[in-house]
Amino acid sequence: MLTAHWTGKSIFDISPQALAQRGIHLLLADLDNTLSPYGVPEPTQQVQAWAKALEANGITLFVLSNNRHPERPKRFSTALGVPFIGHAGKPKPHSFYKAMEQMGCGPQETAIVGDQIFTDILGGSRAGVTTLLVEPIQLAGNPGRYLRYAAEWPFRALTKRRAKPL
Ligand SMILES: [Mg+2]
Repeated sequence: MLTAHWTGKSIFDISPQALAQRGIHLLLADLDNTLSPYGVPEPTQQVQAWAKALEANGITLFVLSNNRHPERPKRFSTALGVPFIGHAGKPKPHSFYKAMEQMGCGPQETAIVGDQIFTDILGGSRAGVTTLLVEPIQLAGNPGRYLRYAAEWPFRALTKRRAKPL
């Protein structure tokens, strides 16, 4: 499945209360261009406050990043105080299964939020979790990101047409 269950502009459009009411206890989150622009090593206060609000609603935030740099996902997640898997290999579902097993959650109570259709949303669909699509924080800096975004466009448009509110 290349369409998501829900879409919004950013993670801040995701209401922790609404997620909790859907029965979500584990929120897997892409790192680059979802939680943070590329190259920004630590979470902003706004991201920290959002993670705290998730926690207050009984939802564990868990960083699932394809970033191959050994320190990047670790530094960011440690600063945020949340578990993580780096070099996750999305859209293969194995890192999703590993995170769910680690946290003792099944697919029914798990969601993924990410900015990319062909990694985050496809991987989440394969793993059977709820899929939440956001816009990339920043496309500038790498021409490949514009090409990828163009390839994703039909699936973003379809998601916008079909998606329901959280
Ligand atoms: Mg990303």
